[in-house]
Amino acid sequence: MVTRIEPIGDRILMRGGSLVTGDGRTFLECASIRIRKGLIADVMPGIQECVEGEAVLATSGSLMLPGFINGHAHATILGPSMPSGSQPLPSTEVEWQRNRHLLSGTTSLINVCGLAMMDERDGILAPHPMDIYMTSAHTPHSISAADQIDGSGLSPRHRSARIEDLVQAGCRVLGEAGGGQTLGGGAQDYRFIPDAVEERTGQRITVVMARRLKEAVLGRRLDGLATASEAELMNLVDEAHLQDRIAIQELRSLIEERVLAPVKNALLGIEEIAEAATAFGLPAIFHLAAPTAATLISLKRRLPNMRMIAAHANHPSFLPDEAVETARQLKALGVTIDVSTLDVIDTRFRNHPDNLDALVEACLVDTISTDYAGGDWDTIPSALHRMTRVSAQTLPQVVALATGNVARVFPEIFGDRGLIAPGKRADIVITDLHNVSKVRHVFIAGKAHVLDGRF
Ligand SMILES: [Zn+2]
Repeated sequence: MVTRIEPIGDRILMRGGSLVTGDGRTFLECASIRIRKGLIADVMPGIQECVEGEAVLATSGSLMLPGFINGHAHATILGPSMPSGSQPLPSTEVEWQRNRHLLSGTTSLINVCGLAMMDERDGILAPHPMDIYMTSAHTPHSISAADQIDGSGLSPRHRSARIEDLVQAGCRVLGEAGGGQTLGGGAQDYRFIPDAVEERTGQRITVVMARRLKEAVLGRRLDGLATASEAELMNLVDEAHLQDRIAIQELRSLIEERVLAPVKNALLGIEEIAEAATAFGLPAIFHLAAPTAATLISLKRRLPNMRMIAAHANHPSFLPDEAVETARQLKALGVTIDVSTLDVIDTRFRNHPDNLDALVEACLVDTISTDYAGGDWDTIPSALHRMTRVSAQTLPQVVALATGNVARVFPEIFGDRGLIAPGKRADIVITDLHNVSKVRHVFIAGKAHVLDGRF
């Protein structure tokens, strides 16, 4: 039972709940956390006595965890969206995405679209209680790749900006180097291929059909291998009801043009970002998928000091064995392996959890984020709960993937959080004891922003 005593000020005692500290090991059956002026002052086993002037939050029957840190999200800022430099999303959409992250227990987040300027985060929106950090991918070839697929959100100011300018303005994480838009990933399926087919034929195809056609024409690695035969492609065209609207050869060229145009520049952009990450000594987030795996492995070999984060190592362009083998090679080189929830936990619109489960079971995962998946992303704690139930991981192990481990990867921005320990920022999430995805209260720097599931 959780009961609350108003008001919750800057002297708080949370007591009685079970505690996971975020270090990957520590679990206390019953504990107390003392908060002073937004920081954790003390963490003690058992139910501690309150002192005068202290607000008490009784958390018996609940779990107390560090706030989740999401190291790879999109659509939570205004300014150009996605690595394609697309138009900013509507502010109502950005507000919804931000709120959904916060309501699922995320207290800090990195928006990795990469081409907005540091002053464009909020636009007309009020700053959000969740900390939202921005990244830079401002290199000549990354910007050319964006322009080849879209670029409609970019102004001369974005096009002339360089990573060093953004670092000067306070940016401490680079990326996303490459992206689904410029490297034939999910954004091609949910946006660019359906747009191109509709423009040419007047008929819109589904997201799932777009992916099937893409893989039929280009193969999973976009390398023209393992493509469909003419007869198989004809069947797909029939299934999409396009047979009277476009010739097979024309469709083939349309998909090749649409998907492949930005690929060469996107790969060059990845190299530029790797060089910049090395020069500045900053962490950089790289789009890992079948078309980029070999590039990332060779870049890390060439630049061993680079702080590379391999994003969404469970990318759907991999088969499970390939995802595991690629992650194993990257991890052996010292790369951080991030997995993303995408839509694989509950939503299951386009993707399934096989790659995620395989990576978890091979003990290759360092951190977990959501990514975007066309807005279909499932929450971080829903993935953590799955790992405890399906993959037999312990709660401390999985909680660390979204808290202490992320803070260790990005110490420049998250060094003060990610653990329930004295001196850390009091970012604390209280969830159901038996299902960490049922988020009840969210505290950021000791202030309650979600109580009993509402703002
Ligand atoms: Zn990506």
